[in-house]
Amino acid sequence: MTARVLVVDDILANIKLLQARLEAEYFEVVTATNGRDALDICQRERVDVVLLDVMMPGMDGFEVARALKASAQTLHIPIVMVTALDQVSDKIQGLDSGADDFLTKPVDDIALVTRVKSLARLKMLNDEMLMRVTTSRQMGLSDDDALSRVLMDRPGRVLVVDDHPRSSSRVMSALAKTHDAYIESDPQAALLHLTHQPFDLLIVALNLQHSDGLRLCSQVRSLDRTRHLPILIMVDPGDEARLLRGLDMGVNDYLMRPVERHELLARVKTQIRRKRFSDYLRNQIRESVELSVTDPLTGLHNRRYMERHLKTLITDAQRSGRSLSVLIADIDHFKHVNDTYGHDAGDLVLKEFAERFRRYTRGVDFACRLGGEEFLIIMPDTDQELAWQVGERVRECVAVQPFQIGQNQEIRVTASVGLATWEGENDTSEALFKRADNALYVAKRQGRNQVVAAAA
Ligand code: GH3
Ligand code: MG
Ligand code: MG
Repeated sequence: MTARVLVVDDILANIKLLQARLEAEYFEVVTATNGRDALDICQRERVDVVLLDVMMPGMDGFEVARALKASAQTLHIPIVMVTALDQVSDKIQGLDSGADDFLTKPVDDIALVTRVKSLARLKMLNDEMLMRVTTSRQMGLSDDDALSRVLMDRPGRVLVVDDHPRSSSRVMSALAKTHDAYIESDPQAALLHLTHQPFDLLIVALNLQHSDGLRLCSQVRSLDRTRHLPILIMVDPGDEARLLRGLDMGVNDYLMRPVERHELLARVKTQIRRKRFSDYLRNQIRESVELSVTDPLTGLHNRRYMERHLKTLITDAQRSGRSLSVLIADIDHFKHVNDTYGHDAGDLVLKEFAERFRRYTRGVDFACRLGGEEFLIIMPDTDQELAWQVGERVRECVAVQPFQIGQNQEIRVTASVGLATWEGENDTSEALFKRADNALYVAKRQGRNQVVAAAA
């Protein structure tokens, strides 16, 4: 998929110029001649990068940037400010209003293409995660407290790798006011810190006196634990070739020496924000994946996951000719526990029950909460006799030891168990399941706190 770039400028000739260069690189280009239209387009359509002119009548570029960053729908669109003025104060104002990068007119071709490419790559990566988060939870991001906490500018942990004493102490003193900053002159020691402690950002001087800053960048990018860590490099004027190599290998941003204090702080802020946003999305995805396979109260697998798994286990049993048994355990008179001691006490019993249940399963067994106070174990390579022993152990471990439901309160609980064993080729998972359920029903009817195996 090619990136879609929105070019915003009040002068048509400027738009045409940028459009031609971007289209030559196969970017898809959309255009707007004022801030209002630009905001509309970003709300309505997919935009991967915005190239934003600073000076425009009406709403200027700074205002547009602020508006984009203020809306949950558009805050993750990278913004590159295109400015005629190469003034530090403009840069600062732009970065403060949320711009991710700058290009000065006349725009340099290489700079244009590399910056747009790397920002678009980042954006598409985030988009993919965003899509998975929103489809799995069926909700927008705007109403999420956790997200606003993520986007609050809390101090970050920053590691600076530089062996020039003067420049590093300047950088450190600038960072120290807002962040927890650490300095390291040796890249290998730095790598060790990065793999053992959590950091939000790495700043590397490209021209270290005693080693190669780029090598550190490439190592950080290739290690699993540091792959997602943002990297900001400090570059000497004239070292553009190595700067480009750095950007190619995934360095996120750069600062030209002598490093200007405000620009440093603004770029650090942007990178930390981006990292927290991506971390947040990644965590959401991990959580939703976990939620889809586990029961949140007990941490056991859920029913949906079990149903998928049971089929595989049965196919395995069929292929290997080994036996397979299932066990369903149901807490006796659990409604009474809830009614007498409250729902929270009931939850504690369920958690503890699951804990004991887990203890009696082997690594190859598959334990799950079917729902309510019903639990299941699928036991590969287990015949009826062995299954009976497991069932009896489960029953016993519940009945013998009381359940803690408060500081000094314990109650006695029992469970009934139904068993069924796989009967070979003509058996189905549904039938197997049904037999275990029927056996459980018999156990209940015969007085509870007992194990019943389905007749073969
Ligand atoms: P039996 O011995 O026949 O199994 O009786 P029972 O009371 O255990 O069975 P019944 O199916 O009548 O009641 C199950 C109760 O479990 C009713 C329901 O409120 C409660 N329950 C289901 N899920 C949860 C839960 O997640 N937490 C708590 N605390 N209670 C739950
Ligand atoms: Mg019950
Ligand atoms: Mg029940």
